[in-house]
Amino acid sequence: MLGPRPPATRSDEIALAAAQSADGESGDESQGDDSEPRDHLTPQAAGHIWASSMGLSFTVPASVGTLSVTARWGRYTQSEEATDQGTTRKVWSREPVEHPVDIDVTSTALASLSTPGHPHRGTGREALVDLLFFPTGGGKTEAYLGLAAYTFALRRLQGTIGSGTQARSGEAGVGVLMRYTLRLLTAQQFQRAAALVTACEVLRREEFAQDVRWGATPFRIGLWVGTSVSPNWFDEAKEQIAGARESASDKHARVLQVLTCPWCGSGLTARSHMEYDEARRRVLLYCPRGEGTDRCPFSRRESPGEGIPVLTVDEEIYRLAPSLLIATVDKFAQLPWNGYAGLLFGRVTEICPRHGYRHDDLDAKTGCGSRHHAKGTCPASPRSPSPASGRRT
Ligand SMILES: [Zn+2]
Ligand SMILES: [Zn+2]
Repeated sequence: MLGPRPPATRSDEIALAAAQSADGESGDESQGDDSEPRDHLTPQAAGHIWASSMGLSFTVPASVGTLSVTARWGRYTQSEEATDQGTTRKVWSREPVEHPVDIDVTSTALASLSTPGHPHRGTGREALVDLLFFPTGGGKTEAYLGLAAYTFALRRLQGTIGSGTQARSGEAGVGVLMRYTLRLLTAQQFQRAAALVTACEVLRREEFAQDVRWGATPFRIGLWVGTSVSPNWFDEAKEQIAGARESASDKHARVLQVLTCPWCGSGLTARSHMEYDEARRRVLLYCPRGEGTDRCPFSRRESPGEGIPVLTVDEEIYRLAPSLLIATVDKFAQLPWNGYAGLLFGRVTEICPRHGYRHDDLDAKTGCGSRHHAKGTCPASPRSPSPASGRRT
């Protein structure tokens, strides 16, 4: 059943195909003469429906809320039948079965994401989680990335929900946590998630100019994976970048995890496009497309001090709590051992304007304190209490 999606034909041909499939439901090939155009103009050939490895993929207009599908299949049973010779033989008989299925296209997951008190978010039976199974190419990634983008925006626009000790702010913090098995996390998947985050960030900047609810904190993506993949601490990352520049080779620069700009596709190297800011303990990756009218919004000129919003150093992930966090199971195993991992779950009390969220154990490593003297381009800064950060995963 595997097959590529055929190119859609013209709209008049599609209409014709739809009309033919409506009145010639049997699709009987025995009709001889007109079999050739029928083959050519089936809904599948018209691009409405295409074969998948299991089930069907199809397109619907954005205005469609619910699809009602009648699934028909056969129930096969084997029985014995008498033959003319007085013996018996085994035969199969087919009993037709049909069942209506309603597919709620839009609100299956959106309702529970949008409403804090929704039963899907409670502890009752309605909150049971089902495993989503779809074949390769079935749209799983698109589905969850779409929901992730919705979550990013919703958290900002909802602001603080709840009150007192239950108050949770959506203006910053991790909104979506994706747990991957390291072997299954491919560079392509990370690149796709990064592309989504850069698109959301471009929109946030535009919206923020009119509506402060969108917040000044960029949407960022963090890769929280094993040490063999990306560095744990700023100092390691700094050494890798310095080493890459010195040797003019990215061979040991694990700190670079995206090889092309997730927004514009420009090639990236650690030796040419990464730098570090000692005062803020930030690793920065700038897109090289910084000139002309089509310059990248993540070039040094358009995004000074931030660049491409991809965090690959664990320390920066704790301090900045990116909107989308891609983590592997070995990091989850560390959760009870590293108090500062609680920052990723909204357990924050204080924010340093230079270094981000604070935690005693983290401060001991990074040298963050209650106040900072001016350093580099950073002015002297006092500490400030953090807003109640939201956990919503
Ligand atoms: Zn770019
Ligand atoms: Zn600090």
